[in-house]
Amino acid sequence: MSIGSFLRRGLDAYWDEHEHEHEFKGLDKRRKRISLEQGIFAMFESIQRTYTSANDLEMLDFNAEKEYCMFPGEEITIARGYLSVIESLASVLPPGLIQLGRKVTKIEWQPDESLEIENGNNKPPVKLHFADGSIMYADHVIVTVSLGVLKQGIREDCGMFNPPLASFKTEAITRLGFGVVNKVFLKLTPTPDGIKFPSLQMVFHNESEQNLKIPWWMRRTANLCPIYGNSNVLISWFVGKEALEVESLGDEEIIDGFSKTISSFLINSHSDDAESMFKVEKVLKSQWGNDPLFLGSYSYVAIDSSGDDLDAMAEPLPKKTSIHSNISPPPLQILFAGEATHRTHYSTTHGAYFSGIREADRLLQHYHCIEI
Ligand SMILES: Cc1cc2nc3c(=O)[nH]c(=O)nc-3n(C[C@H](O)[C@H](O)[C@H](O)COP(=O)(O)OP(=O)(O)OC[C@H]3O[C@@H](n4cnc5c(N)ncnc54)[C@H](O)[C@@H]3O)c2cc1C
Repeated sequence: MSIGSFLRRGLDAYWDEHEHEHEFKGLDKRRKRISLEQGIFAMFESIQRTYTSANDLEMLDFNAEKEYCMFPGEEITIARGYLSVIESLASVLPPGLIQLGRKVTKIEWQPDESLEIENGNNKPPVKLHFADGSIMYADHVIVTVSLGVLKQGIREDCGMFNPPLASFKTEAITRLGFGVVNKVFLKLTPTPDGIKFPSLQMVFHNESEQNLKIPWWMRRTANLCPIYGNSNVLISWFVGKEALEVESLGDEEIIDGFSKTISSFLINSHSDDAESMFKVEKVLKSQWGNDPLFLGSYSYVAIDSSGDDLDAMAEPLPKKTSIHSNISPPPLQILFAGEATHRTHYSTTHGAYFSGIREADRLLQHYHCIEI
């Protein structure tokens, strides 16, 4: 069952339970109420779509959702962004160890012992090819590219891995979902009388002329709020098809869509001309869907996949051969980390972090540096 159909069933049960309440109030009132409730339901669906990155809640597996763990504690915004965390972690490493801007185009590895014998030149088993034409050999590589990049990387024409990854891995990569979520920031010109923009939770439930002027990609977003208390910068989240549409639009089209929304929602509450009162000065948007280094935002367990696929994502290659075999390929050539490899904290930064620790520990254990 999908999350979408589970929630729909709940709404239907609610309507069945409350049907008698409408009996004496008339058909028109009942229709209006149902339309409003449907609009509110759609708003919560949009919020849930944003949390999960699924374009449609019908694509989300219900059982896997039960395994997902929320991280305890408050949600916070990290001062100076995530970069400050990376800088702090990296500060203990020798200078020059981390090389930035080096795109890997191909990873050659040796899944079976015969290749090792052929290679027979004492070179480490993994060969990395970079976009600038350079190469590097390694005993172990921890691949942390996004699930979106992996999905593209396993397509035959792309061939990121040579030889291709084992089928248990490509099947997990194919089955799991990877959606697009984008943020749009709008900088407002301060109003002369200092009126601040309110936090809007938006329900699009009627087909009024005013509402129909609002573009479709705007009608499926749930929030438009200042980034904090009195800020003149607003934020809205977009997911799935709308997120991709926003990536393709120019600033003027985005401003126009937001202005129509603002005037539709704030007419009467602040002034008859909310659109001219709140003027958008500048737009900033993320473009995770089309960025070739991400090709999306974060993972979800799609219908027909399961938590087992997330575990399969974390399996290193080559797979351990039978203990009875005398010759086996060098172990732990390709390890996998990143949010899409964490069974209970996928889709999050802490999931990505924990998976990195897990793979570092795996190598330390391999070299008997730690015991688990
Ligand atoms: C709008 C939005 C809001 C979010 N909000 C939250 C939140 O509030 N809390 C939270 O916990 N998480 C949040 N997330 C999710 C979080 O950002 C991700 O789960 C996390 O960044 C995943 O980290 P990762 O290391 O697995 O992958 P990524 O962050 O995708 O990192 C992969 C890296 O691989 C590099 N790469 C790709 N291809 C190559 C190549 N060929 N060669 C070399 N390098 C390559 C990329 O440049 C990138 O640096 C949010 C994400 C988005 C998009």
